[in-house]
Amino acid sequence: MTTHTLGPVKLGPSERESAIAAMASTELQVLVVGGGVVGAGVALDAATRGLSVGLVEARDFASGTSSRSSKLIHGGLRYLEQYNFGLVREALTERALLMQRIAPHLIRPVSFLFPFSHYGWERAYVGTGVSIYDALGMSRGQVRGLPRHRQLTRRHALRLAPALRRSALTGALQYWDAQVDDARYVAMLIRTAAGYGAKVASRTQVTGFLREGERVTGVHAVDLETGAALEIRAQQVVNATGVWTDEIQAMVGGRGSINVRASKGVHLVVPRDRIHSSTGIILRTPVSVLFVIPWGRHWIIGTTDTDWALSKAHPAASRTDIDYVLDQVNRVLAVPLTRDDVEGVYAGLRPLLAGESDTTSKLSREHTVAHPVPGLVMIAGGKYTTYRLMARDAVDAVGHGLDGKVAPSCTDQIPLAGANGFQALWNSRHSIARSSGLHVARIEHLLGRYGGLTGELLEMIAADPGLGKPLAGADDYLRVEAVYAVTHEGARHLDDVLARRTHISIETWDRGQTSAQEVAALMAGPMKWRHRQVTREVDHYHARIEAERKSQEADTDTDADAIRLGAPEIVPVIVHDPGPRGRDAGQPYPAAAGKARDASDMARRAGAEAELAPPGAH
Ligand SMILES: Cc1cc2nc3c(=O)[nH]c(=O)nc-3n(C[C@H](O)[C@H](O)[C@H](O)COP(=O)(O)OP(=O)(O)OC[C@H]3O[C@@H](n4cnc5c(N)ncnc54)[C@H](O)[C@@H]3O)c2cc1C
Repeated sequence: MTTHTLGPVKLGPSERESAIAAMASTELQVLVVGGGVVGAGVALDAATRGLSVGLVEARDFASGTSSRSSKLIHGGLRYLEQYNFGLVREALTERALLMQRIAPHLIRPVSFLFPFSHYGWERAYVGTGVSIYDALGMSRGQVRGLPRHRQLTRRHALRLAPALRRSALTGALQYWDAQVDDARYVAMLIRTAAGYGAKVASRTQVTGFLREGERVTGVHAVDLETGAALEIRAQQVVNATGVWTDEIQAMVGGRGSINVRASKGVHLVVPRDRIHSSTGIILRTPVSVLFVIPWGRHWIIGTTDTDWALSKAHPAASRTDIDYVLDQVNRVLAVPLTRDDVEGVYAGLRPLLAGESDTTSKLSREHTVAHPVPGLVMIAGGKYTTYRLMARDAVDAVGHGLDGKVAPSCTDQIPLAGANGFQALWNSRHSIARSSGLHVARIEHLLGRYGGLTGELLEMIAADPGLGKPLAGADDYLRVEAVYAVTHEGARHLDDVLARRTHISIETWDRGQTSAQEVAALMAGPMKWRHRQVTREVDHYHARIEAERKSQEADTDTDADAIRLGAPEIVPVIVHDPGPRGRDAGQPYPAAAGKARDASDMARRAGAEAELAPPGAH
């Protein structure tokens, strides 16, 4: 069944159908559950070791934590304060590898100003820490690829960041790290894995395990788009479901050894002109740090760190979260930000390891691999930056289950889709602009998002010049990007395009509501939607945005969560019997889910009223 095209493949609706058919008709060596950065990384690692691989994701790729991070590829300065040098070195080694070899088109340098509020000791203390950070970034013969930090006087710091209140700093230091479009990176990782033969399907939910005695021999799953029940057989199943790990463990009768706790982090997006600065800023907060991160024509500001035991699919930001972030950043700004400056808000859940039993093998302080029953590998914890190492460790554990006859990981040598040819195209961007008729700024935008695959989008524009026009209400993006998201990047619903293939939902004042109709109409062709489905997509999107806005007025997490969950899902996941941990926790849906006519029907039977579309919405 494995086809080795060894190049980026299209991930459109028909490829999804073929992937599901292929997964259901043969025994895979590895099936990955979860299409966040870790699951996608596991699929690529396993496929490039020559294994036959499938991956199923219950929602959209990267729709969990992997589209809701601070979008930094970093070692984490604060780990240095805990003397966690090994961890920081590991992450900084990954940073260099990702920037220089694996995804130079997607990862870019970003600088941060660290303002000092004391004289003397603080400069020495922070300076020593950042010197170590820089040195660790150069270890093992790696070229760091980023400038070293520099000490700044107050005057120099204010020249770089005039937005800072003069009395808020005595001086500063500037250091360099890297940033990524987290959701886009996962889409490229998934396409790369598919290019090496992995079969991948979004909106396909694992509902239980196939067992032979104690051994896991595959999964029960449901194609949520059609309601079809599937059995996918695999010699090894890898669970990479992040904050949903406990639910998967419950499916093997609670035989789990990893305890994942969810911690909510909220970010605000404000227009670039609200903070006059040529550099990002990092501030200490009472509990952690706060980043002000340049993001195109915007700033991303965050984050918070609070326990969360409510909806895992849609963590809601409350008024209290938003006010906290504003209060923290306003400590140093000459002109304070208000709620009226906030264009977008997003919240994500950190999958933190809460404790381990002796059956868990601890591979590093950051992530854990466990083998609770034969045939099942669990990987959890870690962070975005180290996803490749997590994937390597998980597939090493798979190798033990496959009698050890598995090649070593080679993902340190595998550039992602779009990496090849990127630099040459970048150097030719002016001539590409001339020949395509697009402004060079548009070509730079495309190269920064699609790298060496930009030619695919330019060909689509050449065939239909209307696709080269900007989207109404979101003119940073071209119309072609909405179509390409469906034909090549696995997007299936309006939300996938507005929130993850692009970031229109957090980068515009109306959170994408103006663009929704046009984007849905562009998706309609390749998705074969009729008018009714276009209307349904747009209505669901508006309902989501309204619910999010209202939830952000609520003072408490509980109220914000209840309001957010009032908006129906376009493709409801199967939710069973809410457990004590939260609304979408609990036991798996019974394995033989039957052949419900559609997913909504099935979800209704499973009692997921909070996630359902209102009657008549279909
Ligand atoms: C606020 C915040 C800021 C962060 N900032 C950074 C940062 O700047 N740098 C950094 O390195 N790290 C950062 N992190 C950490 C990083 O984002 C996460 O560690 C990483 O994204 C987790 O990826 P994952 O694949 O494990 O989980 P996820 O991305 O959540 O993926 C799990 C997937 O499993 C799917 N799933 C669940 N159940 C099922 C089922 N039954 N069947 C099929 N699929 C299922 C889910 O839908 C989900 O898509 C941050 C995290 C947060 C919350």
